[in-house]
Amino acid sequence: MTGKISATIEDYLGMLYISERDGNAISGTRLAELLGVSTPTVANTLKRMTRDGLITMDGNHSPHLTPRGDELARTVMRRHMLAEWMLIRMLSWSKVHHEAHGFEHSISDEVETALLQELNQPEVCPHGNPLPGHEAAVSAWVPLTSLKAGDCVTIRRIHELAEEIPDLLTFLEEKKISPGQQVKVTEVLPFNQTVTLDVLENLVTLGFSTARQIFVEV
Ligand SMILES: [Zn+2]
Ligand SMILES: [Zn+2]
Repeated sequence: MTGKISATIEDYLGMLYISERDGNAISGTRLAELLGVSTPTVANTLKRMTRDGLITMDGNHSPHLTPRGDELARTVMRRHMLAEWMLIRMLSWSKVHHEAHGFEHSISDEVETALLQELNQPEVCPHGNPLPGHEAAVSAWVPLTSLKAGDCVTIRRIHELAEEIPDLLTFLEEKKISPGQQVKVTEVLPFNQTVTLDVLENLVTLGFSTARQIFVEV
């Protein structure tokens, strides 16, 4: 079924799926920014997707997935995450998201089933984001911005939108801020919009916009 859908459309479906899951409506402008294309290009693609019954547009010109669009989006997200697990055996953590984009579109039903089995039915991707249908696995984790100085926590999840920023992933990897790492909050400065962490005795300061995308287990 996904064979008829282009890789471009699958990328749009993935973005729309994430924003709907998180309860955020997404504008054409924001989609353009996230996908790195122009606003007219996004408008054209959304028109095609509406015609093909994958989305509907609301009164504010925001796209919403139809049940068919949602089902296809879940499939592409799941395949993306399985491709990340496959690639992490060979590549560094900060690189697998980008590389998985090339693989996710060519995974068949048969390979997907085999990968799920081979990888022991993972509930989250290597960045800690939930496979569709496994949102409960991440629901107890809170963003770094909700912590106070002195809290000791374990990093669990780097949100999908942060996965889209290669420099950020490289930075986090260098600073050892990735799932499973224990950290201590040393300072939270709301007026400065920063959180400082002690990671293996190195101090790392993050802005709130990044800290909001990093979820931890308290
Ligand atoms: Zn990814
Ligand atoms: Zn991931």
